[in-house]
Amino acid sequence: MQQTADRIVQQMKSKGLRVTPQRFAVYAHLLARSDHPTAEQISSHLNQDVPTSSQATVYNSLQALREVGLVQEVLLEEGVCRYDANIAPHHHFRCQSCGVIEDIAWEKLQNLEFKGLRSGLQVENYEITVRGYCDCCSPRR
Ligand SMILES: [Zn+2]
Ligand SMILES: [Zn+2]
Repeated sequence: MQQTADRIVQQMKSKGLRVTPQRFAVYAHLLARSDHPTAEQISSHLNQDVPTSSQATVYNSLQALREVGLVQEVLLEEGVCRYDANIAPHHHFRCQSCGVIEDIAWEKLQNLEFKGLRSGLQVENYEITVRGYCDCCSPRR
């Protein structure tokens, strides 16, 4: 999901977000990868280029981006918060061996039946986590 710097700035401004170099760097970085990194991973990656973004700065930028809805938190593991710039509804596949997380397009898992739910519960949306093994980890037989 490569996007030009202009478009990224426009997107941030359209949400009323003040564009700072840190926020820009974090958001552009997140848009360019799809593996749902943690704040630590983002910060260590960004610091390879310019060692100025402390983990706290990265974290604050992530919170600001999340508040305006440009980034979402993905919680698939106990106590581990990952970030996703794909804010369209979608599902996730998580490898139980290496922990890699891949997006599953919404259309792939559509029309689920919720007949089993007790009456009175009204489904508005849902997000599915499929667990298994990725191409690299799939157990050989
Ligand atoms: Zn794997
Ligand atoms: Zn995702």
